[in-house]
Amino acid sequence: MSTSEELRKRYEAAFMPNYGVPPVALVRGEGCRVWDADGTGYLDLIAGIATSSLGHGHPALAEAVSRQVATLAHTSNLFLHEPEVLLAERLLDLLGAPGRVFLTNSGTEANECALKLAIKYGRTTGRGYLVAAENGFHGRSMGALSLTGKHAIREPFGPFGMDVRFVPYGDAAALRAAVTAECAAVFLEPTQGEGGVVPPPAGYFTAVREICDTTGALLVADEIQSAIGRTGAWFAHQHEGVRPDILTLAKGLGGGLPVGACIGLGPAGGLFAKGDHGSTFGGNPVATAAALAVLDTIERDGLLAHVAEVGTGFAAALAAIEHPLLAGVRGRGLWRAAVLTRNGSGAVEAAARTAGFLVNAVQPDAVRLAPPLVITAAELASFTDALPAILDQATKEL
Ligand SMILES: *Cc1c(COP(=O)(O)O)cnc(C)c1O
Repeated sequence: MSTSEELRKRYEAAFMPNYGVPPVALVRGEGCRVWDADGTGYLDLIAGIATSSLGHGHPALAEAVSRQVATLAHTSNLFLHEPEVLLAERLLDLLGAPGRVFLTNSGTEANECALKLAIKYGRTTGRGYLVAAENGFHGRSMGALSLTGKHAIREPFGPFGMDVRFVPYGDAAALRAAVTAECAAVFLEPTQGEGGVVPPPAGYFTAVREICDTTGALLVADEIQSAIGRTGAWFAHQHEGVRPDILTLAKGLGGGLPVGACIGLGPAGGLFAKGDHGSTFGGNPVATAAALAVLDTIERDGLLAHVAEVGTGFAAALAAIEHPLLAGVRGRGLWRAAVLTRNGSGAVEAAARTAGFLVNAVQPDAVRLAPPLVITAAELASFTDALPAILDQATKEL
């Protein structure tokens, strides 16, 4: 077995530098704990970016994936199979609305599908532009990146072939001014994840829905990070009772297996004609079997109520910490950001790691906490108990 340091050196030599060299080489996990190549254990409070919803080594996921890979691993979309049919039916059932599903391998691809639906809708109704939010994140492919409002990752690869107009997130008046009858679609996250787990003001999505209804623009909710229990509901938009026309999913859906979905509700589900879109791997039997196991487990184990309960307690414990580096906490369910009083999230991430906790410096002044949905109140308390000392240590590095 190689040590972490050896693996990091080999990684650096073999990989493109786009990720830098990650600080830890992980070997295995169990529940909410993971171990690195040197045998050091950590409590995982980031879950592979809000993705390992059932934690690590969950028996339901392992069983479903093992059984499916041994039975039929791949079909392509030249043939259909029952796990994908069950998954599509199940997602529509959870949404409680008639619609149609396209399955993908990632979040970016789900948004590419939504983008093509929006473009097709725009072409047939004389609508030539799209609206998205500043600081939003929708993916790294050229289509999804064109919708991504984060300047630093977008500008080096522009210009893009699409007219995308950006508005400040959470500002209904700015959206109203930007969306006319020539706008094909509005792309928004229910809470900005990569932006630092930033929720909009109450009532924002009610206004967004009204603006889209008035102008005829499609509302695309990018729920890639927010859905499948992360906020304590199946879908974050359900908190506001606002239904989008198109919904994109990925991250937590497969519990760590690559699967995503673009769902068109109502007429938006019927926009594609035969031949308009496709994928070799999308809806793969193993990935869809994994997603079904995730949905079954969330339901069987009552994880939505669990997330709401432990998430509320977690936020209260974070808010009760008085420390000069900690300004507060935002987010919902098990999707939180510890907000700092100054830029120092990298130092907090490093100090937390040294103390045995994996967290994510999502923004210079925000630390993202998005643990597996199965995390216990006691595990969360072990982190909030340790946090003052972690913040002290980080302060010394600043
Ligand atoms: C992660 C994410 C994406 C991109 O998903 P990938 O699976 O990395 O392609 C898009 N939108 C949001 C809101 C995300 O959080």
